[in-house]
Amino acid sequence: MSRSVSEIIASLGTGIHIDGQWRDAASGDTFEVDNPATGEVIATLANGGKADADAAIDVAAAKQAEWAAVPARERSEILRRAYELLTERAEELALLMTTEMGKPLAEARGEVAYGAEFFRWFAEEAVRIPGDARLSPDGKTRFVITHEPVGPCILITPWNFPMAMVSRKIGPAIAAGCTMVYKPAELTPLTSLYVLDVLREAGLPDGVLSVVCTTDAGSVVEPWIDSGKARKLSFTGSTPVGKLLLEQCSRGVLRTSMELGGNAPFIVCEDADLDVAVDAAMAAKMRNMGEACTAANRILVHRSVLPDFSAKLTERMSALNVGDGAADGTDVGPLVAGKAVDKVVELVDDAVDRGAEVLCGGSRPSGNGYFYPPTVLSGVSAESQIMTTEIFGPVAALVPFDTDDEAIEIANATEFGLVSYVMSESLDRGLSLSERLEAGMVGLNTGLVSNPAAPFGGIKQSGLGREGGLTGIQEFLETKYLAIPVR
Ligand code: NAP
Repeated sequence: MSRSVSEIIASLGTGIHIDGQWRDAASGDTFEVDNPATGEVIATLANGGKADADAAIDVAAAKQAEWAAVPARERSEILRRAYELLTERAEELALLMTTEMGKPLAEARGEVAYGAEFFRWFAEEAVRIPGDARLSPDGKTRFVITHEPVGPCILITPWNFPMAMVSRKIGPAIAAGCTMVYKPAELTPLTSLYVLDVLREAGLPDGVLSVVCTTDAGSVVEPWIDSGKARKLSFTGSTPVGKLLLEQCSRGVLRTSMELGGNAPFIVCEDADLDVAVDAAMAAKMRNMGEACTAANRILVHRSVLPDFSAKLTERMSALNVGDGAADGTDVGPLVAGKAVDKVVELVDDAVDRGAEVLCGGSRPSGNGYFYPPTVLSGVSAESQIMTTEIFGPVAALVPFDTDDEAIEIANATEFGLVSYVMSESLDRGLSLSERLEAGMVGLNTGLVSNPAAPFGGIKQSGLGREGGLTGIQEFLETKYLAIPVR
């Protein structure tokens, strides 16, 4: 029989889990988690601080050697079981995620499938970590090259994809044999606690993954970085916080993986199939209510097709149902918090003040919850804040262009370089534009690039390293080489 969301929440632990035990915060503090569709409090969790952080990293360091010695096949099977359990319980986890984060249930189901897939993918990678043996060029030395777990890892994730952002770190860390300390986002900790329970049920030994929830991220993460016990930090979040953490990690020369912010251009050429382009724009813009690092932030449309494209896009955007993500028929849920709505209002007002035309939406509704309507803005000027700021909301900003060179110039005029999109029916042109775009990923005639089997990540200030794909596990491995003289 299926459980209600309050039963699911009641079954979760305190918010701090160290060495197989749920704990209260050493300070005794707690914090509340709310439902963004209603503003109601849905859970109260332990609010961790430095003392809890110290206890967690001590355990991660103490357990590292034992965990690294567990055979790869065993680690692989834990991941595989976790994938199967999550797939069986997808409906429960999707409901929990929607309740704490707001996305519509259909999208939450999609995220559970996507997030669980990282466990299956890395279950398969765990048993295929390569090595190498060869002779030196002068024939006098044998080289034996192995890959070892990097060591205890600090994991930090944002609230927008509360499951997938952490499973794509935990998956490769388990596959590589690293212990972990993890701080989930303050706004969406419950999904992480559910995933932790599933991993324990799948056989993850005590102490391999400790979790500390908190409202004061720095009080937990900085002690981990400065502990001298962590070897790596894997962060997903905004560029400003990423830069701060890079500075902190430089003190102990920790390895880092940084999945940071984006400002994706979405280019619609005049030879694009406009129906394909509108479908792709809807996916790239509206996934997660626009609260995605991969969201199409600037939609650049060739002037000759702008009237047709904007009419089709506006029709699709206007037809979306906004409401509680848990209700039937909802296409667009609330944003994650009141502050998120304030930021979108400010960006739209600024664009309108600078001459943009509102084709649909464009104003904050009254009532409970943190809602903002699907909005299309046309004729957005280059000076608008929306051109340089991640919108993180359901707002499509349309900008005309006349030549491919101009499109590339506008697209690359950003410090970010996560993902770009190109819509063209000409393969040569699509490939040429893709090659000229400064981005770690390009979607050619598609608005969706995320795939556990592909390397996800950005260039410029969008980050360092890649998650998923064949290289994802390398982020959690160190290379060691053994020199043996030939005698
Ligand atoms: P954020 O404010 O940078 O927070 C991300 C995480 O860092 C949260 O767990 C946060 O804790 C923590 N944090 C904040 N200040 C910290 C500090 N001083 N020391 C240590 N940790 C700290 O980002 P967000 O608003 O949650 O997420 C949105 C951002 O993430 C966007 O920029 C988006 O593009 C980016 N993102 C990137 C990717 C990618 O793969 N490239 C994927 C998803 C999202 P609290 O929750 O307690 O604040």
